[in-house]
Amino acid sequence: MHSVLRKVSRRAAMAGLRIPMPCDRTIVPRSPFTAAGSFVSPSRCFAAAASPSFANENQEVVIVGGGNSAGYAARALVEHGMANKKLCIVTKETYAPYERPALTKGYLFPLDKKPARLPGFHTCVGSGGERQTADWYKEKGIEILYEDPVTKIDPGKQTLTTTSGKLLKYGSLIIATGSTSTRFPEKIGGDLPGVHYIRDVADADSLISSWERTKKVVVVGGGYIGMEVAAAAVGWNLDTTIVFPENHLMQRLFTPSLASKYEQFYQDRGVKFVKGLSIKNLEAGSDGRVSAVKLEDGSLLEADTVVVGIGAKPAISPFEMLETNPKVGGIQVDGHFRTKIPGIYAIGDVAAFPLKIYDRITRVEHVDHARRSAQHCVKSLLNPSETYDYLPYFYSRVFEYEGSSRKIWWQFFGDNVGETVEVGNFNPKVATFWINSGRLKGVFLESGSPEEFEILPRLARNQPLVDRSKLENASSVEEALEILKKSLPN
Ligand SMILES: Cc1cc2nc3c(=O)[nH]c(=O)nc-3n(C[C@H](O)[C@H](O)[C@H](O)COP(=O)(O)OP(=O)(O)OC[C@H]3O[C@@H](n4cnc5c(N)ncnc54)[C@H](O)[C@@H]3O)c2cc1C
Repeated sequence: MHSVLRKVSRRAAMAGLRIPMPCDRTIVPRSPFTAAGSFVSPSRCFAAAASPSFANENQEVVIVGGGNSAGYAARALVEHGMANKKLCIVTKETYAPYERPALTKGYLFPLDKKPARLPGFHTCVGSGGERQTADWYKEKGIEILYEDPVTKIDPGKQTLTTTSGKLLKYGSLIIATGSTSTRFPEKIGGDLPGVHYIRDVADADSLISSWERTKKVVVVGGGYIGMEVAAAAVGWNLDTTIVFPENHLMQRLFTPSLASKYEQFYQDRGVKFVKGLSIKNLEAGSDGRVSAVKLEDGSLLEADTVVVGIGAKPAISPFEMLETNPKVGGIQVDGHFRTKIPGIYAIGDVAAFPLKIYDRITRVEHVDHARRSAQHCVKSLLNPSETYDYLPYFYSRVFEYEGSSRKIWWQFFGDNVGETVEVGNFNPKVATFWINSGRLKGVFLESGSPEEFEILPRLARNQPLVDRSKLENASSVEEALEILKKSLPN
């Protein structure tokens, strides 16, 4: 038995696995997973049966965080037979993991236009999988500890402590704590009633109840959260202004020409823009609620609700002792999502990982990466083979509520570096192609057909050499995509 376990443990050690094992000679594998993938550390002793001193019954894999990537990791663990009585999820939220992007899309639809509500958007509905409700986790033998954030880790003892004081044991630990919204400081009015940030269902509920009695909304931030919230506010017929310090919407991705098309679209629906100005402070009215946004030039924008979408920060607490990346933030992992401490992994928004295709370290705050990193991490837990090879992908969908005269749906793949060629008139399609040293690097498409959207990742992945002048002369998006398709290997 011991030689079998030694072989197993060597295999598992090579795989970077660390599974709780009973002390010394009383080893009784509890499951195929333990038997097939246990790593015996001579310096660590651990009772495999749930110890009464630990609050979690399932101890082999613990996921901290109950968001998008946790949901996808749970699904992958179920698929590999590694969940039943082995997996515990510890989350800050009241709900089982759900598809977070819904919060600024279907969730904010006007109340008379069939807004999305849980359980309608639990993971993994976004990728066409089973809807993972709280009951689904129970049926699969997965333990979830709700509303009890982890506050402390002891990697030596392989334990975690939660806010309520629970002590949890883990064999392998997956950190999936995501990001938190960047807030305005309290001293400039960032915490005033009527000022909203959107990260979870509770935040979205609070915004909806404000909107029920709101007339004027100011959205601070011209990124995708700002764009999506402003689109929803239009559906509510609110007087909406977007303010941001950059020159145009989606500064980090859109070209000025592309942005101008979207800005015009919003303006046609009554949205006002204030560009190139930062916020000085948020002013309170006599009732203590926010009443205006003061800009750096001293001007005031009246508001009874302010929604702040100015970015997010990786939620690394309480895991600061793990190696963090000073440049991109987040917990540093390798191409298998392993941190420097064996048996501890980080996935989703919080992970700083090697972006193989462009040979740089990055962090990605998007749901496609949350999904793929979770799946890859679970594979690595079992048997690390290929390193993660992610192709950046961003998307947004807005104005999709009933009665909207036009829907907006765009996708971007690749890297937005180099010169750009824009094709199409936004009626409804427009595409932008980024070309660097003659090669296609990034591709953006608005209102493509499913077949056209399908070509985009192939183009961005292959980075074909392109004839720029041919592309510039294309009379339609369809023609441009045909030209590019011909440059792909068969
Ligand atoms: C409103 C909104 C709209 C978005 N729209 C899009 C979109 O259109 N397209 C797109 O690609 N991406 C979008 N994103 C980004 C996408 O949702 C995230 O990239 C994705 O959710 C990241 O998954 P994650 O599991 O890493 O983090 P999250 O889904 O944020 O989950 C993290 C979880 O960990 C919990 N947590 C944090 N700290 C602790 C702790 N100490 N103990 C226990 N639990 C903890 C949090 O409460 C949360 O439940 C959007 C994000 C938001 C907020």
